[in-house]
Amino acid sequence: MLVLLRPEAAPEHAQVVALLSSHGLAPRTIARDGRVALLADEAPGLVEALGHLPAVAEVRAGASWVLASRAWQPVATRIALGEGVVIGAGSPPAIIAGPCAIETEDQLLTVARGVAAAGARLLRAGAFKPRTSPYAFQGLGAAALPLLAMAREATGLRIVTEALDEAGVDQVAEVADVIQIGSRNMGNYPLLRRAGRAGRPILLKRGMAATIEELLLAAEYVLAEGNPNVILCERGIRGFDRATRNVLDLAAVPLLQQATHLPVIVDPSHATGRSELVPAMAKAGLAAGADGLLIEVHPDPDRALSDGAQSLSLEVFAHLMSELTTLSTALGR
Ligand code: PEP
Ligand code: MN
Repeated sequence: MLVLLRPEAAPEHAQVVALLSSHGLAPRTIARDGRVALLADEAPGLVEALGHLPAVAEVRAGASWVLASRAWQPVATRIALGEGVVIGAGSPPAIIAGPCAIETEDQLLTVARGVAAAGARLLRAGAFKPRTSPYAFQGLGAAALPLLAMAREATGLRIVTEALDEAGVDQVAEVADVIQIGSRNMGNYPLLRRAGRAGRPILLKRGMAATIEELLLAAEYVLAEGNPNVILCERGIRGFDRATRNVLDLAAVPLLQQATHLPVIVDPSHATGRSELVPAMAKAGLAAGADGLLIEVHPDPDRALSDGAQSLSLEVFAHLMSELTTLSTALGR
């Protein structure tokens, strides 16, 4: 729950903390735009007791994504990654591109140079891959992390890569500018809490059967730990028709932007699973108002060890980028 405090009653704030402590709770203080609030777990009878304290303006209890909401923060969150790379409203769409998995130094550097030349600002490539089958290529693991550092050095691209588990967060944070939490982990609450203390922005992908509310509550786990920088990613949800890998829920983009101040991006690669459909859905994502796109690109998609069927070649990606530039101009972005 969130306990909104009256700023003018600052001397009495200690009473509120004391009441929460007497219930065995250790509240976290958060402040924004002149407002101060305490975040704490709920306990029986507590909401009523808090309501009687003079320093308490309001108690918001129940399942709610308070910190992610526009009500708490009306102004859109902009995530600055240095040297003019910003993700969020008012910035040019952030194009994040790269191979599903890092395979070799040559493969990664070829893609990195290619997508940078085409205008992408961020490189997304997996060292640790969450694969549906335990027998599929699981990524090179920690051995691939120095390759990401090398790619950043060579191109200036910001690095996005996935952390699969709590133990991997710090390891990934050493090289990543943004840590990805994948769909399969959207409901991994200990991992989300850990990501909230990672000191890096988090790219949070919607679970394949997750509602909008569940996605926002997952983001709330990260925010509640003190990390304000979460990027939400619509990557398609499971439908009944196997003609596409998933169903891209484009209405989620404006809906999320209405509900939350967090940036929202679209991943047309996992949403369709088919490279020939990716350019159209990338453009549709931008037209729907996405703050960025996540696109899988491989120098030789037919030989990719992971997600080749949905990966664009460097040539197709470069052509798409020129179309996206035209579209962005037309959209006034
Ligand atoms: C990925 O980004 O390569 C990936 C595994 O995506 P998702 O978590 O959306 O399935
Ligand atoms: Mn992939």
